[in-house]
Parts: sequence; structure tokens; C-alpha cells
Amino acid sequence: MNIEDIVGEVATAVEPHRGEGKVADYIPALACIDPMKFGIAVATPDGGCHAAGDAHEGFSVQSISKVFTLSLALENVGDALWQRVGREPSGTSFNSIVQLEKENGIPRNPLINAGAIVVTDHLIDGNDADAAIDWLLRVLRDHAEDASIDFDAEVARSESETGARNRSLAWFMKSFGNLENDVETVLSAYFRHCALRLSCAQLARAALFLAFDGKDPVTGERILTPQRCRRINAIMMSCGHYDNSGDFAFRIGLPGKSGVGGGILVVAPGEGTVAVWSPGLNEAGTSKVGALALEALVERTGWSVFG
Ligand code: GLN
Repeated sequence: MNIEDIVGEVATAVEPHRGEGKVADYIPALACIDPMKFGIAVATPDGGCHAAGDAHEGFSVQSISKVFTLSLALENVGDALWQRVGREPSGTSFNSIVQLEKENGIPRNPLINAGAIVVTDHLIDGNDADAAIDWLLRVLRDHAEDASIDFDAEVARSESETGARNRSLAWFMKSFGNLENDVETVLSAYFRHCALRLSCAQLARAALFLAFDGKDPVTGERILTPQRCRRINAIMMSCGHYDNSGDFAFRIGLPGKSGVGGGILVVAPGEGTVAVWSPGLNEAGTSKVGALALEALVERTGWSVFG
């Protein structure tokens, strides 16, 4: 069966589940999203996009952006990054603070909020928050070959207004000397990258290099070294879904990253990338129907890295 037919089958298979899960409401601007939305897109190395449902509608990618900021920060500071953030699964929720005190302000990994805030600090480096966001947008537009990609200022503002928890994490790390820039500067960039709006089709395309050893198979552009690409995939596999990472690996067997906007990005090494979107979440903040769709896709394609 070809991938186009499989994507159609997957969309049909999850149809009875549409609307399941709970839409994130702790960021007020996300609370009003229609829970019935569902999109899926598969990007393949020949430049193909195989899509179904609402795959061309933009949504708030939220924590999926952490994969792209990690890739850029590694380019900026290289392996020095690992002195300020770990690479172990946390086994806690995305915005947990409990481990930070015992572990001297060093977050467990770059995909939990605390870790992503440190990564954003590195992205800013000597520049300002606007320059960091401009850089990220430039890179994403380039990877996705789509100049229309932007962030949603309303979502960023909404998250900032209700961002007490992320402010606590940032100030706590600052007290340990693990944030170089001003807390509000770092958070203003963090809230904006979380508020990036991409469709499933744009997201899958932008991440395609992660499935091909760090090189975009369509343009031939090298984006990351093969080693860094492997390592990002390893972190996505072990930490991409917070305290749901083990279950996600068990069910889907692919490196992935969830966002509370209901998107999930997964990387099928040597095959392609898949982005799904369905706003209802499970308790860990992973899209419920999105994960079901990925399970159905992997069953039909045999793309699990475990065979
Ligand atoms: N912007 C969200 C936050 O910081 C991202 C969380 C997520 O998508 N898991 O709370």
C-alpha cells in the first residue's frame, strides 16, 4: 500500500475518536480551539506531502518548537550546552520544578520547560530576544520552503500573562546561575517560540532533515552533523513526551515531540517525518487522537525503529 493510501486509512481509523481528550486551557488563547480538528501530514524525501483532514491549517505548535530551538542552540554553542542541561528523562510533567533544587538548577533535559528555557537563553546569547526569534523564523521558513510561517502574537501574549509557572522556573534557575540573560528577555523569546503557528504539512516538511542524518533530502542542504541529528532523535525518543515518553515509545516506537496545542511531530529515520494535530490531550499533555493516529500509521508502515 502506498503512503497516500495509508494516510487516508489512518484518518478514517481515528474518525470515531475525534474530539477525545481535553483541550489545554491553562493558556487562555488555546482554550477556544475546536476539539474536533484533526490533521495528518507525512513528508517524504522526494519532496512529497501526503496529507488528510485539517493538515493545512495552522495551529500552535507549543513545545514542538523545542526541537528546533535545540538544534539551533547546538549550532550556536555546540556541546557546551550539555554543561547546563542534562539528557535524562525527567519522569515528571513538562512544567515541574521538583528536581531543579536537588539538581542545582540544571534541568534534566532540553524538552521539559526548564530545559527549553535554558536552551532559549543560549539562543539569545549576546543578542536580544527579537534577534533570536528572527533567526528561528528565518531557519524554519527556509527548512519548510514557506515564507508565510510566523508566530501568533495573541497566543504569546496570553501565555506571558498567565506564565507564573514558567517565570518561577526561570527565576529558580537564575538563582543557581543557570540563566545568563535577563529572565524577562529569555521568557519573551520562549513564549514567542512556543506560539509558533505551523500546519502539519509545514511542520513535517521543516523537520525532514531529522529523518535523514541532519541533511535535507529535498534541497541537499546540511543542517546538522549526523551525530547531532542522532542525539536529538535520542532525546526525542526518551524525553519528548515528559512522563508519557515511555508509553509513547512503547506504542509508537519513533522519536517524537508533543505540544499542548495538540500537535505531535515524529521522525521515522530514513523514511520521512509525520505531523499530526488533534487538540484534545491526555494527562501528560500529548494529543490523544494524534497518538492513536500515529499508532495506526506505524502499524501499517512498519516504521517503528524497533522493527
Ligand atoms: N508553552 C507551553 C508552556 O510553557 C509549552 C508546554 C507544552 O507544549 N508541553 O507551558
